[in-house]
Amino acid sequence: MPPPQPLLRVPYTKPFPPPTIIPTSATTASGAIAALVDFLSAPASTRIRRDHFHHHHHDHSLQHHRHASATTNTSTNNIPQPFDTRNRTLILTGAGISVSSGLADYRGTNGTYTLNRTYKPIYFNEFCASHEARKRYWARSFLGWTNLNRARPNVSHAAVGRLGELGVVGSCITQNVDSFHPLAHPSLQTLELHGYLRALVCLSCGSSYPRSDFQSDLARLNPAWSTFLEEMLASGALDTENPDERRRKGMRTNPDGDVDVPGAPYGTFRYPACPVCLAAATAGRRAVVKVDDDGAWATGSTGGILKPAVVMFGESIAAGVKLAAEQAVDTASRMLVVGSSLATYSAWRLVKRAKEQGLPIAILNIGGVRGEDTFFADVPETNTGRDAVRAGENADKVLPQVVKIMEDMQK
Ligand SMILES: [Zn+2]
Repeated sequence: MPPPQPLLRVPYTKPFPPPTIIPTSATTASGAIAALVDFLSAPASTRIRRDHFHHHHHDHSLQHHRHASATTNTSTNNIPQPFDTRNRTLILTGAGISVSSGLADYRGTNGTYTLNRTYKPIYFNEFCASHEARKRYWARSFLGWTNLNRARPNVSHAAVGRLGELGVVGSCITQNVDSFHPLAHPSLQTLELHGYLRALVCLSCGSSYPRSDFQSDLARLNPAWSTFLEEMLASGALDTENPDERRRKGMRTNPDGDVDVPGAPYGTFRYPACPVCLAAATAGRRAVVKVDDDGAWATGSTGGILKPAVVMFGESIAAGVKLAAEQAVDTASRMLVVGSSLATYSAWRLVKRAKEQGLPIAILNIGGVRGEDTFFADVPETNTGRDAVRAGENADKVLPQVVKIMEDMQK
């Protein structure tokens, strides 16, 4: 019997109700494209209310703030602003936008977890407290990294970047930790809401350590796992996240869904210590960092633990990131969600915030979205896309076409 599923931070594991497509013409790909062009090219809505924003954040300097805004608007009329968000769209993306890059969407079209059902996410406090839990986490991550590292941004990421260049999209928030947005469009700023896997951060000193270096360390410290990884890459077993298909290609797993490497159980997996803390500890400063003969982190250490720079289950989003995300909403003219079911509260609340301020909302996502009825409850019958869009088409088929039309409009 597999062990019972732990409670996830993700509150829903049941399917969301199927979406009501808005406007009704958006039930086809071409209709969705037309509606989204209408949405993105509309003048800023007159229904936007920023009172909530002002009162919420600037009680102490309300007068000053309003005065400053007025001054800014008149003095910059003729000066182009590189990040002018006065009539720009904020785009929020989730796992769905990375699917064609070869990365799994953790929710299928029904909003349920469709992949490895035995997968147990690690919790932040567990990672910090338990050497055994970290060994297990890093062993799995060691095998999984190659896929992410080989994957590349796709046409939808490129389309977001192009919309930025056209001045349509002013900023991008992503729930994804794959860093495809900053890779695809370095000049359009991206806020990585849940962090990123491209680096690690030291729990003791806060130093950053590149994941590629860390991966090399793991290979060196765990030769049996390294050989196993090479074999599995050659067999193609790691090209899929489907456990059955993996087994067919020769990947051995135990009843818990863990990878079974002969002679190399999870308990023997080794991972490096933070090099900055290790150097400081060797010099007699800071925490005790013990390592074995090969440099692997050893028990008895009081620091130097490297953690992926992602927000783990049970961990809070950094205050600065949370605030920056709210400010992106508070300065946008409209909000477009792509490839997210908004099951994660931190993403859902940003759309709720946008709705409360009267921003037009568009959602392009295959399958239902958490609480979406409330986002579209007051859409006028005359809406052709300008006020709201809800489409269930594949982003890769829609966004590049939207870009093409909007490029022509600007000629
Ligand atoms: Zn450190």
